[in-house]
Amino acid sequence: MSTARTPDALPGLAVRGRSGRAAPGAEAVLAGLDPEQREAATAVSGPVVVLAGAGTGKTRAITHRIAYAVLTGQHDPRRTLAVTFTSRAAGEMRHRLAELGVEGVSARTFHSAALRQLRYFWPRVVGGAVPDVLPSKARVLAPVLRSAGYSEPSLARDVAAEIEWAKSSQVAAADYVAAATRARREPPGSLTRENVAEAYSAYDDRKTREGLIDFEDVLLLTVGMLDTRVDVAEEVRRAYRWFTVDEYQDVNPLQQRLLDLWLGDRDDLCVVGDASQTIYTFTGATSSYLLGFRGRYPHATEVRLVRSYRSTPQVVALANKVLASAGGPEAALRLELRAQRGDGPAPTVTAYDDELAEASGVAASVRRLLDSGTPAREIAVLYRINAQSEAFEEALGEAGIPSVLRGESAFFDRGEVREALTRIRGAARGGGDSGDLGADVRSVLSAMSWSDEPPSGSGAVRERWENLLRVVSLADELVRENPDATLADLVDDLDQRAATQAAPAADGVTLATVHAAKGLEWDAVLVAGLAAGTFPIQYADTPARLEEERRLFYVACTRARTHLLLSWARNRSGRGRRDRSPFLDAAFGADPSEPGSAGGVVRGTGSRSRARRRTNDACRVCGKALVTGREIALGRCESCPSAYDEALVERLKAWRLDEAGRQSVPAFVVMSDATLEGIATTLPSSRAELLRVSGIGARKAEAYGDALLSLVRGAAVASTDDLS
Ligand code: ATP
Ligand code: MG
Repeated sequence: MSTARTPDALPGLAVRGRSGRAAPGAEAVLAGLDPEQREAATAVSGPVVVLAGAGTGKTRAITHRIAYAVLTGQHDPRRTLAVTFTSRAAGEMRHRLAELGVEGVSARTFHSAALRQLRYFWPRVVGGAVPDVLPSKARVLAPVLRSAGYSEPSLARDVAAEIEWAKSSQVAAADYVAAATRARREPPGSLTRENVAEAYSAYDDRKTREGLIDFEDVLLLTVGMLDTRVDVAEEVRRAYRWFTVDEYQDVNPLQQRLLDLWLGDRDDLCVVGDASQTIYTFTGATSSYLLGFRGRYPHATEVRLVRSYRSTPQVVALANKVLASAGGPEAALRLELRAQRGDGPAPTVTAYDDELAEASGVAASVRRLLDSGTPAREIAVLYRINAQSEAFEEALGEAGIPSVLRGESAFFDRGEVREALTRIRGAARGGGDSGDLGADVRSVLSAMSWSDEPPSGSGAVRERWENLLRVVSLADELVRENPDATLADLVDDLDQRAATQAAPAADGVTLATVHAAKGLEWDAVLVAGLAAGTFPIQYADTPARLEEERRLFYVACTRARTHLLLSWARNRSGRGRRDRSPFLDAAFGADPSEPGSAGGVVRGTGSRSRARRRTNDACRVCGKALVTGREIALGRCESCPSAYDEALVERLKAWRLDEAGRQSVPAFVVMSDATLEGIATTLPSSRAELLRVSGIGARKAEAYGDALLSLVRGAAVASTDDLS
C-alpha cells in the first residue's frame, strides 16, 4: 500500500503464522482496512473508542489493531487481553489473529478471564481449589422455591434471571427490593419483590452450603480479590497492559468494575460498540459506558465507521429504515450505514395464516436457498424467544434439512451431556491428561461406550452419539486453537457454554434467537414470528423496552449478507388474529393492506409523523411522541395497531382497583399492567391458558382465575362489535 514506509515499523514482515506460511506484515495488516478503520488500528496507545453500526468492520478493526500493534512491536501479545462476550467470538478472534500472524494474545470472555485469575489466586487468597461453577441456577433454585411453596413451571428460570440481573448490577439480596422497584422490574409469576429477595438470599445460602459458586460469583469473587488484595491487583496489572473490549454497548456494571480493576490508573483501553445494538439491558447491561466513554476519557481517540461491508444496499436500506424512528439515549449516536457491496435481492416479507404454515413456509424458503446454492451453514432462521425454535426445527426436519440450535439450554440438560461433563471433570481432577486432549476426551467417553464410529440407525441412540460427538469436536477445536489445551480447559469451556447457553456447533442451518446471533453473519437470514406481541414481545410495555425490541430487530436484519426474508403469522395456533409487527411497517411502509411481500417496497414514514412535536408521551407500539389528547389516552398513535383489547384492559383495571381496595394493598400488588395487558392480548379461556400469561402463577390463578376468566368471556362477546 503506502510507499512512505517507516522501515523500523515493519518488523512484522518476517513473522510466521502457525500454518508456517509467511504471515502478512504490519503494513499488510493495515492494507485490509479502510481509512477510518486504519485510524483506529494505528492509535495503539491511550484510550480508543470505535462507534459504528452493524457490519462496518468493528470486530475486524480491533483485531487488526491488535495485530498491527504486536507486529510493530508496540504491544507485547502476552500482555494483551481482548475481551468478547461469547466463547465463540473469543475463538473467532484468536483464529483471525493467528491468520494475521499474531499469537499469544489472550482473547477471552469476561467470565473465562475472571475464572482463570480466580483459579490462579484462590490457593493464595483463600486456600484450596476454586469451588465448582454451578452450570444452571435452576438446579439450586427449584428446591429453594419448592420449600417456600412455589411450584410454578419455569418460575425457577425467571427468578434466576432476576438474580442474574441483581448480581450483574451489583445489587445484594438485602438491596434487591429497593433496586428492583427503582428499575421497575416486575417480579415473576405470583411472587412479590420481597419473595424474590428471600429466594435470592436462600439460593445464595444453599449454594454456599453445597460448596458451589455461580456464573456471576466468578466475576464477583474476582472483583473482591482485586479490590482487597493489593498484591493480587498488582500482579494482574503486571500481567496485562493492553485491553480491548468488543460489543462494549452490552457491558454490565459488574464487568465494567472488573475492567476498571484490571486497568488500575492506566488507560490503554480500546472499546468498540454500536449503541443501536444494545440488547441486554434487561440483564443489567447498559450502553452508558460506551456513550459516556469520551466523558470519562476526554483525550480518547474516537473513530466512527459507517461503511457496511457485510450487507447489500437492499439490506442496509432496510436496516437504516428500522432505526429511523428509534428513540432512547442509544439513538443519539445512531449512524446511518452506507452500503459498500453490490446489489442483491430486495428483502421480502411474507404473511402466513398461522404459525404452522409459517414454519413450513420458512422450511420451503430454506429449501429454495439450498437448491440455489447457498450452503446450509450460511443460512440462519432467527426468532425472538427460544420456545419458537421447536416449530422450525420440526418443519426443517420434515423437509429433510439438518438444523443446529444455537444457544439452546437443552443441550446441557441432556443426561448424556451431563454425565460426560461429570466424567471429564473427574478426569481433569484426577490428572487424566496425557498431553493429547483429543485422545483424553475420547478415552473418558469410551467409558460411556462412545466411539468415533456412529451407531447404525437413527432415533435416540444416534442423537446421544451426536451430542457426545459435539463434546469431542469441541475438544478437537480447542486443540486446534491451542495445542497444549487440557481437560481442565475443556471443562472451563463447557462450563462457560452451559452458563451462556451456547452449545457447540454442528453442521446445518442455524436456528437461533436474535440474542444468540449477535456479532455473527450469514449469507441468508430468515427472521420469523414478526407479529405484534411476539416481536416486539408482549411484555415490552414501556417505551424503553420497545426501543430494546427495535434494536433487537435491527440486530436480526443486519446479520444478513445477501438474502433477508421476513415473515409472520396472522393467527397464533388457532387463537385470535394478530397484527403484523409494527417494525415491519417501519421497514416496508405503514399500510397494512400492502404486506410488501411482492418484493420489499420501502416507502417513507409520511410527513405527518415527521411533523410530530416531542412530548413526554410516547407511543407504546412504535415509540414515537404522541401529540393529540386521544393518542395520549390510547397510549399509542391512532395509526398504530392495538396489540390487545383495550376496553378489556380498562375493565381489568377497574376490577384490579376493586380488588386492591378490598385487600388494602396498592394496585400493582394485585397484578401489574403488563399482566393485565397480557391477559387482554392472549384472551385465555381456561385456567391452564391463564397460567401461561406472564405474571400469573398458581396462586394468582387460584385467587383470581374465575374473576379474570369471566371478564375475558364478557369481553370476547362485547369486543366483536368494537373491532373495526
Ligand atoms: P457487528 O456490528 O455485527 O458486530 P462488525 O462491525 O463487528 O459487525 P465485522 O464483523 O468486523 O463487523 O465485519 C463485517 C463483515 O465485513 C465481515 O465479513 C468483514 O470481514 C467485512 N469487512 C469489514 N471491514 C472490511 C474492509 N475494510 N474490507 C473488506 N471487508 C471488510
Ligand atoms: Mg462485531
